[in-house]
Amino acid sequence: MMRTLVELIAAKRDGHALTEAEIHHFVGAFIAGTLTDYQMTAFLMAVFFRGLDDAETVALTEAMLHSGSVVDLSRVAGTKVDKHSTGGVGDKVSICLAPLVAACGVPVPMVVGRGLGHTGGTVDKLEAIPGFRTDLTTVEFARIVGEVGTCIIGPNQEIAPADRLMYALRDVTGTVESIPLIVASILSKKLAEGIDGLVLDVKVGGGAFMKNETSARELASKLVAVGTRAGKQVVAWLTRMDAPLGVAVGNANEVREALGVLRGEGPADLVECTLTLGAEMLVLGRKASDAAQAMAILRKALADGSAARVMEKMIEAQSGNARVVERPSLIDVADCVVDVNAPRDGFITSVDAHEIGLVAVAMGAGRTRADGVIDPGVGLAIDAKPGRSVNQGQRVARLFVRERAVGEALAQRVAGAFRYGDVATPSPPLAFARITAEHVYRSCNADVMMGHRTQ
Ligand code: URA
Repeated sequence: MMRTLVELIAAKRDGHALTEAEIHHFVGAFIAGTLTDYQMTAFLMAVFFRGLDDAETVALTEAMLHSGSVVDLSRVAGTKVDKHSTGGVGDKVSICLAPLVAACGVPVPMVVGRGLGHTGGTVDKLEAIPGFRTDLTTVEFARIVGEVGTCIIGPNQEIAPADRLMYALRDVTGTVESIPLIVASILSKKLAEGIDGLVLDVKVGGGAFMKNETSARELASKLVAVGTRAGKQVVAWLTRMDAPLGVAVGNANEVREALGVLRGEGPADLVECTLTLGAEMLVLGRKASDAAQAMAILRKALADGSAARVMEKMIEAQSGNARVVERPSLIDVADCVVDVNAPRDGFITSVDAHEIGLVAVAMGAGRTRADGVIDPGVGLAIDAKPGRSVNQGQRVARLFVRERAVGEALAQRVAGAFRYGDVATPSPPLAFARITAEHVYRSCNADVMMGHRTQ
């Protein structure tokens, strides 16, 4: 006899494994409304502390995936490849990457999330573009991927609805930083998209959910293993997230910065991250035989304007004002600006991305309640990044706020996120490890995750 829903929560609280059937029943009850938000939250907290084993993680991913349907992209020619990041501060890569890769001939169907914890979400960012809709139906999504080459939407009633609901609860209940929950959340959305390949950007560092390399490697390996088990080609990169990526943090100003990349501008770290992941997508999408060839194709699409043109088409197809590509100032950014200045001469040794992310949430760029409303126009600019030399009194950051008093109160926290030293410390490479299915299979006992269940 199947245990009751309350018994399943208690079993996980006490560290016992649930069966595949029990996990499907539990997620099904949540979607049907017979399991309440507070019961799901209790379960998520139990998973946070007790974890899920590999078989449970696979079962949760599949249950969340099948809470909706899988998009049929069989009429879109080519190898369809997406990318997903595990979340960081200032991470606006998806916004420039999707049109760039599509411009190089690889279709990119992309289902993304809202802000999570201290990190921003691509849905919230894109909604800063006047008129832009991320709530399209699956049919509209498939049509736009076919016509434009890419389309970016949020999870809806059809695509991984369980993730949309569980994600909103995790965001405000301290249950984000759990490897099995992150694996199930990301892959349920991605497997629903109708993709052939997936590139994962697993962030590691103070501003990421995985604070150290060991946990980031574990997350990357599980993502690659479960994705491969589902029949997809999956590659993961570990990239550093100690300082915010790029200059802009916040929704509207991050979109402006991502549009800059498409015009051939953009901060070096953001461009590097975009090109590294994009090259991997072009190789998976069979448009390049290796990373060097892929980089050359990507750079050409930036230089000749074809990536920017795809962005315009995508925005137009999603009901937004495509003129923002040429005139990003059409995207409203709060015009009350509070500066943060260096307290001394020296070199910036670090900028605490986690603290900057929390300040962004406190400004109203993220949520503290599941039904919270964000202000897309508020945010920050991190004008001086680690390694930069500064003079006392020189501006290192700006806060874009609606009321000066709010900015002045938060400016103290932003100032505290900067560390200074007397010598320049070299920045380690941004993208530092690549994890493939072969690595995972060789380096761990991945039988269950890879679908080779031992008897
Ligand atoms: N991105 C997601 O889509 N889900 C998570 O849980 C974390 C990052």
